[in-house]
Amino acid sequence: MRIANSLSLIFLLLSMAIQMLGQTGSPEIQRVQAIQQTEKVKAANDYITRNRESILREWIRITEINAPSGHEQDRAKHIEKLLRSYKLASVSFDSAGNLIAVRKGTTAGPAIVFDAHLDTVFQPGLKIKATVRDGNVYAPGIGDNTRNIEALLATIRALDAAGIQTKSDLIFVFTVEEENSFKGVRQFVQDNKKNIAHYIALDCG
Ligand SMILES: [Zn+2]
Repeated sequence: MRIANSLSLIFLLLSMAIQMLGQTGSPEIQRVQAIQQTEKVKAANDYITRNRESILREWIRITEINAPSGHEQDRAKHIEKLLRSYKLASVSFDSAGNLIAVRKGTTAGPAIVFDAHLDTVFQPGLKIKATVRDGNVYAPGIGDNTRNIEALLATIRALDAAGIQTKSDLIFVFTVEEENSFKGVRQFVQDNKKNIAHYIALDCG
């Protein structure tokens, strides 16, 4: 998995999601480009660039906690601890074991959801150790899907660091059992379907 500044991609997605809320038509890309040039979004992307090394360390740490489908709790608890150190409206688990963080928007209405699954396809007990060589990081599951877990965590911190407020609530959901049955996402959607404006699931590299 190439380490570059690919985490800033999530800002493109986030900008699109924010702007598309309640709007249709073709000039979205131009709007996204304009948003990317705003001082606050630049500051958020600068946060990602400045913190590249700590983001990489955190990404590797999460990857090395194996989380086979149905056995995601250790990884989820580690991520929960990180989320609880941020300024979020709530951090909780639902009945399926999904970890859910809510970042409040300025207006009421349906939320924009970002999803990254917690689980791996590896057997329980597998020891995972990441290595970094020539600008690449290697480990089982580093792309699918801790790359996206880390993207969500870093995005929350970048939004806070840049003082970005969104109109809609942002819900960050770390789901269980994506690899075998979609149990986690099914439960989340069932519980929240009236409160979802857009649902963006991030997976693989
Ligand atoms: Zn995946």
